[in-house]
Amino acid sequence: LARAKRVLASGVSSEFRKYNHPHAISYTHGKGNRIYDVDGNEYLDFTLSQGPLIVGHSHPAVLNAITEYSTQGQLFAGQHLKEIELAEKLHQLIPSAELMRFCLDGSEAVQTAFRVARSKTGKQKFLRFEGHYHGWLDNVAWGISTPSVAALGNRDEPTAHAWSGGLADRSREEFIIIPWNDLNLVRQTVAQHQHELAAIITEPVMCNNGCIAPQEGFLKGLREICDEYGIALIFDEVITGFRLGLGGAQRYFGITPDLSIFAKAIASGYPISAIVGKREWMEEIESARVIHAGTMNASNATVAAALATITVLEQDQETYPRLFRLGNRLMDGLRDVAQAAGHQLLVQGMGPMFNTAFTHLDRIVDYRDTLATDKAKLNAFIAGLHDLGIRVIGRGLWYISAVHTEDDIEHAIAKAKDVLKAM
Ligand code: PMP
Repeated sequence: LARAKRVLASGVSSEFRKYNHPHAISYTHGKGNRIYDVDGNEYLDFTLSQGPLIVGHSHPAVLNAITEYSTQGQLFAGQHLKEIELAEKLHQLIPSAELMRFCLDGSEAVQTAFRVARSKTGKQKFLRFEGHYHGWLDNVAWGISTPSVAALGNRDEPTAHAWSGGLADRSREEFIIIPWNDLNLVRQTVAQHQHELAAIITEPVMCNNGCIAPQEGFLKGLREICDEYGIALIFDEVITGFRLGLGGAQRYFGITPDLSIFAKAIASGYPISAIVGKREWMEEIESARVIHAGTMNASNATVAAALATITVLEQDQETYPRLFRLGNRLMDGLRDVAQAAGHQLLVQGMGPMFNTAFTHLDRIVDYRDTLATDKAKLNAFIAGLHDLGIRVIGRGLWYISAVHTEDDIEHAIAKAKDVLKAM
């Protein structure tokens, strides 16, 4: 920790600072579904390095692919056939992926989607939703009117304001922000701002705050509104992509956006993301009305990692049913042990990713509900789990990987039981 503080701004993981954990730790390595700290302690990992490790740490097929292609020079976007192969594969898998470009991470791909939407519509603003996270670049990072930033660090809004480094309020210039899951409100807002809106952007499942599924008909309603006004529907599938299935949330829910963003799990954590979309929108890039650049985009090694990840996920038909089954079992088990220990623990989500929150509510439906949850209790829960060798993301988010086993799930439930009892 002392070494880190000398050379790393803010030292080690903000999660550990947040709940003031005595063991601000570093990991030495990860393997499969386990990670190991500098003292040699082993942890069952449900963080999956913030989600990308859908096939676990250091999957042999991914490592082999990277090794093989790293020895064939360092070629980037527009230079090698593997990039075309990956695009062809994503075109097959993702309903809206008629054309695409690759970037390095989710944040960049989000900004590309914004550019495309602006270019095609000639309009400047976006409708976005409270509690949704779309990366950390300038326009989406601004505080006060961007509750997602506040929630991300569980910080109050004045602190979130400071996160932007004193930028002018770009968020207000560029976004209209309303609560999620309220279709009537979306209708009214779009009607009122139709002359300035280029797109609606949403996480198809609000993963970053409460892991909230869309209300019945909500995504379909967004689709209809966007069609009616000729604006883009953008799905930010950075988390849902490859987590709900290889076709993302758009295939899972059967709603096809105009543009969408895939990152995190598509290459097991290697730096590649995709902005994909319907031809009539992505032609803005094809025609060079929108620039898309980036020296290190789509390196042969990261593209190979993506293709290997897809191959692993595709080769076993049972992968996704299993992810859901294991996740649902863990969710049920956590509910049971919490109830037995007398805690109001809300376990909510989709299976492959879900959220735990201490609240009297029996359902969280939008960002505002998440503000009323007991963060101190959650911190104690997460820290307690950590001490018993279970790692969960600090804000209560759990990710399941294809290499978690039934025994892992039962083990986690047993440890949660001990922690909740002690609390
Ligand atoms: N969108 C969503 C929904 C995300 O969860 C994230 C990252 N947590 C991003 C965008 C930004 O992606 P990246 O961190 O790869 O830039």
